[in-house]
Amino acid sequence: MFGISDDPVSLEFYSTRAAVFNVESITVAEVRCACPQLNASGRCDIYPNRPKACRTFKPGSTMCLAAIQRRRPDQVSQILALLK
Ligand code: SF4
Repeated sequence: MFGISDDPVSLEFYSTRAAVFNVESITVAEVRCACPQLNASGRCDIYPNRPKACRTFKPGSTMCLAAIQRRRPDQVSQILALLK
């Protein structure tokens, strides 16, 4: 999940490739697929060189909490406990 511009071209582009919605007035796109860099242990194989979007996605941020609630609604309390 990442923030996108809400101009019509961006909205059309991302709407055909991802779920587009608002999180606290921020337009975001959520691509529903596993990252090809995840290894069998569920860890990032390129973590030291991960993309900027991954580096700027802060645990516990508004977008992080929205992603948890959308993708793991049954585990919200357990995941939030890990972030403390
Ligand atoms: S940190 Fe980024 S590149 Fe690495 S597994 Fe997660 S989404 Fe993929």
